[in-house]
Amino acid sequence: MLDVRDLSISYGAVQALRGVSLQVNEREIVALLGANGAGKSSLLRGITGLTAATGGVAFLGRDLQGQGAPSRVTAGIAMAPEGRQVFADQTVYENLLLGGHLIRRDRALLAQRIEAMFELFPRLRERREQLSGTLSGGEQQMLAIARALMSGPRLLILDEPSLGLAPIVTAAIFRSLLRLRREGMAILLVEQMANQALAIADRAYVLEGGSVVLQGTAAELKRDPRIHAAYLGGA
Ligand code: ATP
Repeated sequence: MLDVRDLSISYGAVQALRGVSLQVNEREIVALLGANGAGKSSLLRGITGLTAATGGVAFLGRDLQGQGAPSRVTAGIAMAPEGRQVFADQTVYENLLLGGHLIRRDRALLAQRIEAMFELFPRLRERREQLSGTLSGGEQQMLAIARALMSGPRLLILDEPSLGLAPIVTAAIFRSLLRLRREGMAILLVEQMANQALAIADRAYVLEGGSVVLQGTAAELKRDPRIHAAYLGGA
């Protein structure tokens, strides 16, 4: 459903992405692994249209290259950004409303989507009127994901959802991702926690120096000695 061809991004003299090609199929969880500075965030920003890139991005057969970030959201791609970035001085409920601005005139659909988010993350229902800045890190991550889902995407993009979270909280969030996939969502996930990401992913790509250096099914990559040495903490 997502077809990225030969995508490159430069920031002045720094070439952050060098001709990356990547696909995400329907109902697939794809992990994007790599060390700090490998170009993972840049790739996500190129896909979502937040940073200008050369190359091709097509989604559900539609060419998105040259289109801005808002039209990519309308096309069905939503991203929960790194560092969560919820609106701290707004309540949980208000954050969800903001995420649903595309459907703000359809009150029934809006209410239905908010209810679906509270079912996916019951914690958020309990904290519906709480200011988002006072949520725990894990709750803020749940809210960031829920806010992205409010646009009704077909592809959910996550930039390091485990960042700064306890393993048990990360595990709960990853279980929600598996549930979303069962319900038909495709997910592209950037993660430093390679072992946790490979445990839920169908396939993965490894970026190094702005290029894809390894790709395969999660099962293949888990067995790959190069992944083991670099990302799974030991040879
Ligand atoms: P991390 O895991 O640390 O977030 P990453 O794999 O997501 O890293 P990117 O953030 O995409 O990597 O960065 C790739 C390269 O591009 C790095 O060398 C980074 O310093 C550089 N870079 C990223 N954003 C900019 C920018 N706005 N201006 C200049 N250089 C940038």
